[in-house]
Amino acid sequence: MRERERYSLARALVCSASEAAFPFDRPFRLSPEGAPFLVSYDTAGLAERWRGRAWTRRPVSMWRYHELLPVPDREAVVSLGECRTPLIPLGRLPRQLGFRGTVWIKDDSRLPTGSFKARGLAVAVSMARWFGYRRLALPTNGNAGAALAAYAARAGLEALVVAPSDLPPSFIAEARAFGAEVRVMDGLIDDCGRWLRAHAAELGVCDLSTLREPYRVEGKKTIAFELWEQFRGGAPDVIVYPTGGGTGIIAMWKAFDELAAAGLFQGPPPRLVAVQAEGCAPIVRAFREGAGRASRWPEAATRAVGIRVPATVGDALILRALRETGGCAVAVGEEEIREAQDALARAEGLWLCPEGAACWAGFLRLRDCGWLDGGERVVLFNGATPLKYPLSGSDR
Ligand SMILES: *Cc1c(COP(=O)(O)O)cnc(C)c1O
Repeated sequence: MRERERYSLARALVCSASEAAFPFDRPFRLSPEGAPFLVSYDTAGLAERWRGRAWTRRPVSMWRYHELLPVPDREAVVSLGECRTPLIPLGRLPRQLGFRGTVWIKDDSRLPTGSFKARGLAVAVSMARWFGYRRLALPTNGNAGAALAAYAARAGLEALVVAPSDLPPSFIAEARAFGAEVRVMDGLIDDCGRWLRAHAAELGVCDLSTLREPYRVEGKKTIAFELWEQFRGGAPDVIVYPTGGGTGIIAMWKAFDELAAAGLFQGPPPRLVAVQAEGCAPIVRAFREGAGRASRWPEAATRAVGIRVPATVGDALILRALRETGGCAVAVGEEEIREAQDALARAEGLWLCPEGAACWAGFLRLRDCGWLDGGERVVLFNGATPLKYPLSGSDR
């Protein structure tokens, strides 16, 4: 096929530690250096292909950016109707604070299975099916397991989800509703991941753990492509993102870099801010210490289970993304998360999941300490619907 007809302009896998390039050879694993693989693209080819704003004539969904996704052709795409998610400006709350800039919520709860895990898993499941895998698995704190289960069902593949036994039962029920096998075990998500790696070969599963395969990050890049379009080829000044495994932070950093390389985005990338809970803040601690890696956070505890991730193989990349974009990392307490959830619901009509509410709490901290000067354009992420989490009464 001629170069300009290729559905994907993916070129190679690059080891994120050594920068060595590798071909796409069933790459559902880490690089030989034990670091995540990242997909590289022909950005010069992209500049050519998108010169006439080709993507704008396609349906409004994450797949309109298909040249910058790894899925090799249209027929390989596994989709559940992913919409472009809205960017909703806050009204009363920033005004009451005297904030002169604008704050938006990027509301990714509108995606299939109600969370932004759909973006990554749509791409990873498409790739796994393309490579011929029949049985897919991952460790989860809830939303990833539900998304894997749904996309696997759609693709006609089997799914195994390994989850901590203290997860809200709604997440387990949701994965089971899609026909996935769910194993619960005592421990945290990294314990579930270790168990899965020890048993993956004997179970015959393809392991889609966060950043231990290169494609979930690729799907998650579409949050940045959407923002870039919603800001008319630009970007907000600051993006505040609830950070667990780090897929989103790494993906946005990579996406703006690719757009810049293709000449489609000028100016500094948005400053990326990682928000974590005080009960599980390995990235915040490493950022403050100036460290290049983060050590495991023992006894991790927070109601915001999506960011209850005591250790991630993406730590070095997350820290680089925060520093290279001039961002930072901030931890917030459980009470602040609760108050943020109530405030946004009552003053703005936006009921966010605890992780999303943590972004507003993080925003308040950054404003109080003067890191934000009060005139910025800021985007906060809501990654999931609050309806899957324990509702009032059981947890307050
Ligand atoms: C998974 C998850 C996160 C963390 O996302 P990463 O990109 O993996 O850091 C945040 N919020 C919610 C609701 C999640 O499900």
